Amino acid sequence: MERLPVLSIPDFSTNAILLKKIEFGDHDFIISFLTESNGKISVIAKNAKKSIKRFSGHFDLFCLNHIQCSFPKKKKDGLTILTKSDLEEGFANIRYDVFKTAYASFWIEMLYFYLEENKPQSDIYDLLLFAIKALNSDTISKEVLNLLFQIKFMSIAGFSPNLENCNKCQTVIDDFQQKNITFDFKEGEIICKNCFNKKSKHSMTVSKGTLKQLFWINNTDIKKADRIKFSSYAIKEGAVLLEAFIPFHIGRDFKSLQFLKSIRQTK
Ligand SMILES: [Zn+2]
Repeated sequence: MERLPVLSIPDFSTNAILLKKIEFGDHDFIISFLTESNGKISVIAKNAKKSIKRFSGHFDLFCLNHIQCSFPKKKKDGLTILTKSDLEEGFANIRYDVFKTAYASFWIEMLYFYLEENKPQSDIYDLLLFAIKALNSDTISKEVLNLLFQIKFMSIAGFSPNLENCNKCQTVIDDFQQKNITFDFKEGEIICKNCFNKKSKHSMTVSKGTLKQLFWINNTDIKKADRIKFSSYAIKEGAVLLEAFIPFHIGRDFKSLQFLKSIRQTK
């Protein structure tokens, strides 16, 4: 009778997007993935630095792998062990473009710091995968994708700003008798000029047109996102607003965002 090789059965396997990789000791990496089934996880890839051939390209930022993992035999041994990884998609078009790389790096850094470990977040995984695929294939412009990603991320995470009406008097934005509207970062809301008393330290002025376009994205199915037509002014102003509000809300600055802002200035 033919003998079958003894295979170790992984504790779980899933698709996973790489969020962060750090060196650990002389041979290992600790890798954080956003997985389809288990949310954000951190695993140890043993001897990965020696096996560059085996893992070539798998461990670059935001690449998509199918991974297999095993839990440590004793809990005190710590980290979940990455036993196998197969590259599904490396997104080469992003890597050859410094702006696209900067956008994708910003999105994954935001998720890395925001998401809790081992908490399934399949809708955030789907959003990130959609955004990275669209960025790679140019189906939607990177600037619009950046707004879309941030708006949808806030919506799933449950801290969407109120862009629909003045939170104090409930007047809807269409009835505001003004072109420029105050957005309050602390409260995550717009304030009409009648309710506005003094400029808060944490506020900025945004045009009504930009706010309405952001609101529209928030309420539109992501699959129709390629129909979005933004003015270049709204794209710029929307980015300024979101890229200030999200770090304010999460309570930290992102290195990748600083880099993105610096390369925009050289354009
Ligand atoms: Zn009001």
